[in-house]
Amino acid sequence: MQKYICHDCQKTLVKNEEYMPYKSGSETFIKCKQCHKENSALKNFQPTEVYSRVVGYIRPVQQWNKGKQEEFKDRAEYVVKQPACC
Ligand SMILES: [Zn+2]
Repeated sequence: MQKYICHDCQKTLVKNEEYMPYKSGSETFIKCKQCHKENSALKNFQPTEVYSRVVGYIRPVQQWNKGKQEEFKDRAEYVVKQPACC
């Protein structure tokens, strides 16, 4: 039997528990009864395409090779507090 996990609360649904399926293309998302009661709309289910710089080009990270994707995970984000000029 397929394991059902609620999209919103990540709870694993037990056997015979009520749930609401949402179809999006070939994917199906599941919401438990309580989460569906709180908010019946399915949100934040589409993957985000992240672009970043690799070997001088801005390319979607998903299209990078495996080695560069692993390197991307090690990158640190930072905020520049003061502009470099002026
Ligand atoms: Zn839930």
